[in-house]
Amino acid sequence: MENKKELRTWLDDFKLSHPLVIAGPCSAETEEQVLKIAHELQGSDVSVFRAGIWKPRTRPGGFEGVGEIGLKWLQKAKAETGLLMAVEVANAAHVKLALEHDIDVLWIGARTTVNPFAVQEIADALQNTDKIVLLKNPVNPDLSLWLGGLERLYNAGIKKLGVIHRGFSTYEKSKYRNNPEWQIAIDLQNRFPDLPLICDPSHITGKRDMILEVSQQALDLNYDGLIVETHIDPDNAWSDAAQQVTPDALKRIFVDLRVRKATD
Ligand code: PEP
Ligand code: MN
Repeated sequence: MENKKELRTWLDDFKLSHPLVIAGPCSAETEEQVLKIAHELQGSDVSVFRAGIWKPRTRPGGFEGVGEIGLKWLQKAKAETGLLMAVEVANAAHVKLALEHDIDVLWIGARTTVNPFAVQEIADALQNTDKIVLLKNPVNPDLSLWLGGLERLYNAGIKKLGVIHRGFSTYEKSKYRNNPEWQIAIDLQNRFPDLPLICDPSHITGKRDMILEVSQQALDLNYDGLIVETHIDPDNAWSDAAQQVTPDALKRIFVDLRVRKATD
């Protein structure tokens, strides 16, 4: 797969004067939680609402997502707010259900990108789709694995492709939850300058008070968008509580990013 300008057209369809913003909870928890967050984000910089329905947890015993019922809540949120809906898919059954429920954006999580069989299964299930498909980097700092996943999707005829940089795990202690290793994303960007590149400051930092700083770094590096975990009651979120921000805090982050840009 060489750089292809056609990869960029879906992003241009948004006709945004600012970065593409995807926001919403780490996990859909209840219908009320989904609808409340979506309504609070309506009319803001956010164009796409995210919520995990199937949650791949590193260790067993945690909350593994509400499953299919959550797709109905997202359909309702879409009908009420007009926001596009995004979910994580990790296998062909997830893809089938997401497509049946009119989900607009499907993303592949970091724990799935490491598995070529899983990515291929998803690519096959999505064959020639006109949905937007976003591939997160693999958990480990391996550019080839990330590129390999992209090639599998591209070869399946998926043209509305983008990548999400969510940082890389490390055994060493770090101020980040997942080290950004910016150079890996820059190398990918240099290879595919027309491929939309979105930063996930939530999973990079793991802490809500670092979201602004990392979002700023991404925009300074000309990223095309941000995906930020947003919850009405972050401290009591069922997953990733420490890194989620309220819809109001997200709006303040965008005001700050704009002020900084204007005073550049
Ligand atoms: C998520 O987006 O909630 C998620 C599970 O992310 P990642 O795949 O980056 O760990
Ligand atoms: Mn999360």
